[in-house]
Amino acid sequence: MSETLFTKIIEREIPADIVYEDEQCLAFRDINPKAPMHILVIPKKVIPKLVDAVPEDDALLGHLMIVAAQVASDQGYSDAFRLVVNNGAAVGQSVFHLHLHILGGRDFMWPPG
Ligand code: AMP
Repeated sequence: MSETLFTKIIEREIPADIVYEDEQCLAFRDINPKAPMHILVIPKKVIPKLVDAVPEDDALLGHLMIVAAQVASDQGYSDAFRLVVNNGAAVGQSVFHLHLHILGGRDFMWPPG
């Protein structure tokens, strides 16, 4: 597994507020939250960007979505949360280990900025 900031969280080399974990993924609170609920769901497999995912990742990507919905529900936001995936530095990706942002607890603009 190549090293990223998030693999260090998976390996417990750096601390994080982990809210969910299974064999395939981990969910933890964002260190710089942009909403009252801001949790990241990451695969344990290193996929730098969504565009790097391959057909064999189908089930894993679906699992991340299912987990994100479950985590949002567990946090009390089953009817009002947003998922965001930044793909590429130009749109704001800063950690090159695929992650789903789960955001909730405030108003959100549409279309997103
Ligand atoms: P992105 O900009 O889409 O790549 O999102 C990366 C996210 O990771 C940002 O929202 C950061 O605040 C968050 N982040 C960076 N370092 C940590 C960390 N050590 N623990 C939790 N979240 C982090």
